[in-house]
Amino acid sequence: MDERAKRAGERIGIMKYEGCKWCCGEGCNQCKIELEKAKKEPEPIMTINMNDPDEVKFARGYIGREAMENAFGPGGGGIQEIERNAAIFELIKVLRKQNLTPPTGS
Ligand SMILES: [Zn+2]
Repeated sequence: MDERAKRAGERIGIMKYEGCKWCCGEGCNQCKIELEKAKKEPEPIMTINMNDPDEVKFARGYIGREAMENAFGPGGGGIQEIERNAAIFELIKVLRKQNLTPPTGS
């Protein structure tokens, strides 16, 4: 994008933010708003329901001491490994919830 087009885009609030939930980084009039939101409150990579002992116990396998040692130890994937663990945890959490409350149908 050339400078003039870029400036024009900024004037009307269009920019590209790769984390934008509306356009997934394509560029839209919500990108700027999404970017501002992201600056204010970083999106948690995972959330744990501390009132659910099962969930807490199961989260430990993904972000507990051992998981951290593996990620940051020799041959570990570092923060990317933790992010991956968190994503897997979130996915499995959804699946577990669905098992606990299966759709009743009609
Ligand atoms: Zn956007």
